[in-house]
Amino acid sequence: ERKIYPLQELTPTLADQKVWVRARLQTSRSKGKQCFFVLRQQKWTVQALVVNKESIIDVEGYVRTVSKKVWIVSSASPRLPLLVEDASRPEGTDDALATVSQETRLDNRVIDLRTTANQAIFRLEAGVCKLFRQFLDGKGFGKAFLAQSPQLYKQMCISADFEKVYTVGGVFRAEDSNTHRHLTEFVGVDMEMCFNYHYHEVLDVLDQLFVAIFKGLRDRYCEEIETVNRQYPAEPFKFLEPSLRLEYKEGIAMLREAGIEMADDEDLSTPNEKLLGRLVKAKYDTDFYILDKFPLAVRPFYTMPDPSDNKWSNSYDFFMRGEEIMSGAQRIHDAVFLAERAKVHGIDVKTIEGYIDAFKYGAPPHAGGGIGLERVTMLYLGLHNIRKTSLFPRDPKRLTP
Ligand code: ATP
Ligand code: MG
Ligand code: MG
Ligand code: MG
Repeated sequence: ERKIYPLQELTPTLADQKVWVRARLQTSRSKGKQCFFVLRQQKWTVQALVVNKESIIDVEGYVRTVSKKVWIVSSASPRLPLLVEDASRPEGTDDALATVSQETRLDNRVIDLRTTANQAIFRLEAGVCKLFRQFLDGKGFGKAFLAQSPQLYKQMCISADFEKVYTVGGVFRAEDSNTHRHLTEFVGVDMEMCFNYHYHEVLDVLDQLFVAIFKGLRDRYCEEIETVNRQYPAEPFKFLEPSLRLEYKEGIAMLREAGIEMADDEDLSTPNEKLLGRLVKAKYDTDFYILDKFPLAVRPFYTMPDPSDNKWSNSYDFFMRGEEIMSGAQRIHDAVFLAERAKVHGIDVKTIEGYIDAFKYGAPPHAGGGIGLERVTMLYLGLHNIRKTSLFPRDPKRLTP
């Protein structure tokens, strides 16, 4: 019976004590007749005294002196498709070895995920969920566990008097979007709540929610942020408190001033979205802002029109570093009006009867939003591909591993 020590517990207080450790072999170097190797567990490494890289080994030795014995617990294939140290090289270095393509990484995701940057990315992503839950639990949201496509169900919960609900779960999109920010499977982080007077009550909660997430990440995940930055350099994420809010027409005005031709009721293309992000950053020095009052024409049928001018709507998108991370709106809570709007959008009302019926028996005014988890992590860290923030990304061209 021997105690196997986690690498993180190997402190100087254990000096000269015999210890057992089990870890991955990261690298080995020969020096004279001896062959040193570096052992790794997640983010912890220790230098020890030989074996195939990536194998799992047990080592007997004395802390800070040479190892005595090594047993291979689980041998790695000698032909590694990807070396962790190659996959860990900082981006943008000229080193010819530096380029491990995103495809090679994803084809060999299990090895790729062992890099310290990837370990840090997913600790931070778990942090986004934790902070999301913590903030909304503190605001009196009920825990709700909902199936896929949370949008309609969370609204039905509102009609069932749950008042404030959120859900974190898988979302599937059969869209042929081969971009840096679209997956066919992502994690939807969604909330919906009633309000008393104005949908801006909900917008305020969402605004504070993001500020809480950004502050929580900055304060509690600085080690992860530094680790990721070492491999993927990025400017620190800037935000204001309260967040910057612009109306859609102000956004269009800024774009027009920059020479873009755009109709009033035109949706933002991805290039225009990014340009607006740069213009906002230059003018207000923030990487996070809210765009309120989208044209009604570009929003889904269940979006509440602006009662003072139905060219616009009570709907909003949130942006990080010039890219959409959330869409939300006040939803129509009247069954007759909802059916009418569905017809205008060419939707066969029969196919959504269950949804529309949910509003026949009195539903309170409500609004909410849907956030893409992987996008938040990607844009917070200034990464350039959503596949970096999904453990096993799925897109129109990738179903494995
Ligand atoms: P985009 O304009 O980028 O295609 P969208 O407007 O179609 O996004 P929504 O239907 O508003 O997306 O979904 C809410 C949120 O879910 C988005 O703001 C985004 O963060 C996330 N999201 C949407 N589609 C995807 C996708 N294919 N992959 C990853 N995240 C997504
Ligand atoms: Mg889309
Ligand atoms: Mg969009
Ligand atoms: Mg959207």
